[in-house]
Amino acid sequence: MPSILITGANRGLGLAFAKQYAAAGWRVYAACRAPDDADTLNAVAATTSGQVSVNGLDIDDGGSVAALADALKGEPLDVLLNNAGIYRGKQQGFGETDYDEWQETLRINTLAPLRMVEALIDNVTASERKQIVCISSKMGSMADNTSGGAYLYRSSKAALNAVVRSLTVDLAERGVTVVAFHPGWVSTDMGGHEAPVTPAASVHGMREVIERLTPSDSGRFLDYQGAEIPW
Ligand code: NAP
Repeated sequence: MPSILITGANRGLGLAFAKQYAAAGWRVYAACRAPDDADTLNAVAATTSGQVSVNGLDIDDGGSVAALADALKGEPLDVLLNNAGIYRGKQQGFGETDYDEWQETLRINTLAPLRMVEALIDNVTASERKQIVCISSKMGSMADNTSGGAYLYRSSKAALNAVVRSLTVDLAERGVTVVAFHPGWVSTDMGGHEAPVTPAASVHGMREVIERLTPSDSGRFLDYQGAEIPW
């Protein structure tokens, strides 16, 4: 049974990933900040007999990440899915920068995914598939930035993309495949009601792409339908 750890699994894209991988029969470590409040996720876990576990994890807290890594010692992880992320501030326009929110955004969107990989790399390398998936955003693409603004979010995802590229190089000899995804504009709390893509459709697409990944795909930036996104 392949296994996956998903951050931010209590709502949005993370919840859709947890539901779909659970339905596909995977061993799912569904991590979230407040397991007691994660009603929908707990309901998903309750339909399985231990195949889905709900694990407490605040990715902004090094102690919390270390505790989860400790609890999972020796458990292979076929896919480590860095999904949790934030978009702080509404406009993020020039002259409106909230520097505290920017630091928080960098901690969650950029530093935490690398911290997760450093903490759980032995679990990934002990697995068959050895895949690390980071949910980035087209808003982190330099080439795509023709509308400006969104300083906090754009810079955090562009920096995450740099992390993905370095991981690709550094983990190649351990046989690890690392990719960045743009999930589309998705109707979650972050994406809003007007977003054209449902979480189920986005996750269905990303799962298909993940299923087809080979080590030669490492370092790619793909959308949920498998199309290349320019850096
Ligand atoms: P969402 O609905 O706002 O969900 C965000 C998730 O991240 C929640 O589960 C949240 O947990 C979790 N999270 C935030 N801070 C955390 C922390 N410190 N520790 C643990 N979990 C934390 O967003 P989404 O749309 O599903 O986004 C998922 C990913 O896709 C993000 O990386 C986002 O940047 C990316 N993305 C989304 C879109 C889109 O259109 N929706 C587009 C491009 C990229 P809590 O419930 O505890 O807050």
